[in-house]
Amino acid sequence: MTMSERKQHIMVVSAHCGDAEVMAGGIVAKYTANGHAASIVHLTPGEKGNRKMAPEKYAEQKREEALAAGEVLGADVYFLPYKDGELPVNDESKFALCDVIRKAKPTVILTHWQESIHKDHANTSLIAEDARFYAAVPAFERALPPHGAWGFFYCENWEDPFGYEAQVYVDITDVFDTYVKGMEQYELFRGGISSFRYIDYYKALAVTRGCLANCRYAQTLMRPREAHATRYQAIPGFEL
Ligand SMILES: [Zn+2]
Repeated sequence: MTMSERKQHIMVVSAHCGDAEVMAGGIVAKYTANGHAASIVHLTPGEKGNRKMAPEKYAEQKREEALAAGEVLGADVYFLPYKDGELPVNDESKFALCDVIRKAKPTVILTHWQESIHKDHANTSLIAEDARFYAAVPAFERALPPHGAWGFFYCENWEDPFGYEAQVYVDITDVFDTYVKGMEQYELFRGGISSFRYIDYYKALAVTRGCLANCRYAQTLMRPREAHATRYQAIPGFEL
């Protein structure tokens, strides 16, 4: 496969440490393995999901695991200071992410689909959309100059299933082992904290998506509604 001559930068905006890695770790690994850049922004650590550990202590562990996963996937890792379950959708959180976008300068932003069982996931999706807009518009004066990330997609996550449509299939066969290794950096995914079989689920999903994409393993994305329309001079394939 030939990758673009243009240098790409994939940014994944993630509600909790671990979300970016499960929903887009294969895509990130594919781009970084081909010489492109990537960054992961975790808006909260996801520190309240461990009944055996105090949230403050587990937050430290999740941040360490996020840095280890970023190292495996070849991505820079950023953290915003919000708390699990308390992520606000307001201009403060949107401008905080806007500033990270202006600093990292991604070409494509990937994030959660909004129709989720988890409020932080739904909120992350809304924050990412507006932060991308704020980052691109020069009239929003911030410390750093504007930056337009013109690609924007939603990722596939078991907690964000309602109405999600797999529209773009990305072959991750060559980096599948790196994808799995990235997930394995988290105790949550190795088992013992949650009864959900994360790694089994995401491995099986990559197989299923690979079957439909005619490759061994794939991850999928969904386009935002404004990207559904494509403008042509005639019916594609039936030019005048
Ligand atoms: Zn999450």
